[in-house]
Amino acid sequence: RLYNEVQELKGNIRVYCRIRPFLPGQNNRQTTIEYTGENGELVVANPFKQGKDSHRLFKFNKVFGQAATQEEVFLDTRPLIRSILDGYNVCIFAYGQTGSGKTYTMSGPSITSKEDWGVNYRALNDLFLLTQSRQNTVMYEVGVQMVEIYNEQVRDILSDGGSNRRLGIWNTALPNGLAVPDASMHCVRSTEDVLELMNIGLMNRTVGATALNERSSRSHCVLSVHVRGVDVETDSVLRGSLHLVDLAGSERVDRSEATGERLKEAQHINKSLSALGDVIFALAHKNPHVPYRNSKLTQVLQSSLGGQAKTLMFVQVNPDGDSYAETVSTLKFAERVS
Ligand code: ADP
Ligand code: MG
Repeated sequence: RLYNEVQELKGNIRVYCRIRPFLPGQNNRQTTIEYTGENGELVVANPFKQGKDSHRLFKFNKVFGQAATQEEVFLDTRPLIRSILDGYNVCIFAYGQTGSGKTYTMSGPSITSKEDWGVNYRALNDLFLLTQSRQNTVMYEVGVQMVEIYNEQVRDILSDGGSNRRLGIWNTALPNGLAVPDASMHCVRSTEDVLELMNIGLMNRTVGATALNERSSRSHCVLSVHVRGVDVETDSVLRGSLHLVDLAGSERVDRSEATGERLKEAQHINKSLSALGDVIFALAHKNPHVPYRNSKLTQVLQSSLGGQAKTLMFVQVNPDGDSYAETVSTLKFAERVS
C-alpha cells in the first residue's frame, strides 16, 4: 500500500515527449532521432558529428513517435482530465523550441476537423460528455478564461477587443484556497462554446503582431478551465481546474545578435521558463520551498502546480539535424523535472 502511495505521489508530475514528423518538402533532412522505446526511452544523436559524445539517452514517462496521432496522444491524457471532475487541479503544458509542435499538440493544426483537434478541444469535449453523464447526481458549471503572458504582463484575450488592461493575478480567492487571475470568466456549456471563445482569443492574440514579429512564439498562452460541481443530494461543492498552456518557444537567443525589443522578450521568456523549471523541480524533489513568485507564469499556474495537483508536460521535439543542440537542451530541461 505504501508502495502505491509513493508511486502515486511520483505520478503527480508526468513527462511525455512528442516528436513531430518532418514536414512536406523536408524529405532530405537528417534526423536526430536514433531510437524510441516502448518504455519512454529516447536516444538522440547528432547526424553531423561522430564520436562518443554525439549520442544521448533520455527517459520519460512516454515517448510519442512521429506517427502518433492526436487521438493516441489524448488517450494517455484522458485520465488526468477525468480527475478534474473529482476535484483535482491539473496543468498540462507544451514545452519546446518554436516549430516543434507545441501548438499542434495543444490545439491542433486547424480546428475545422475533429480529427486534428489537439489536447485542449478533446479535453473540453470529454469534460462536457462526463458532466452530462453525471447530470442526475452532480450539477456542473464550467467557466473558461484565456490569458496571454508577454514580457511579464498578463493580458485577458477574451474580453472585448483583447483588453490591454494589465491584470493583477490574485483577486478572487476561491474558498478552497485557489486563486484565479483577474480575467473575464466565460460560462461554457458545450464544446462549440469553447471553440468560439478560443477563436476570439486567438484573434485577439495576434493583434499588434506583424508577420516578422510573430508574437505567439514569444508569449505564453494559458487557457484555464474552472469546474464547479454541486452534489444534487448533499449540496456539497467540489471544484477542479485545468490549465492548458502553450508556452513561448524555448530556443535560446544569441545575445550578440538580439537587441532592443527582441532581447527584452528573450530575457522575459528565459526568466519565466526557468522559473517554471525551478517550480517543477522543487515539487518533484519535495523541496519545502517552492519558488512560485519568480514569474507571472508560475503565479498564474500556482493552483495547478503542487499540492494535490497533477502536472503533465509535453516535451516537443523537432527531429531536424540542425536542431540537435536545441533538442538536447529541451530534453535536458525535461529530464531535470521528471
Ligand atoms: P510550435 O507551436 O512549437 O511553434 P507548431 O505546432 O506550429 O509548432 O508546429 C510547426 C509545424 O509543424 C506546423 O506546420 C504544424 O502543423 C506541424 N506539426 C507539428 N506537429 C505535427 C505532427 N505531430 N504531425 C504533423 N504536423 C505537425
Ligand atoms: Mg505555436
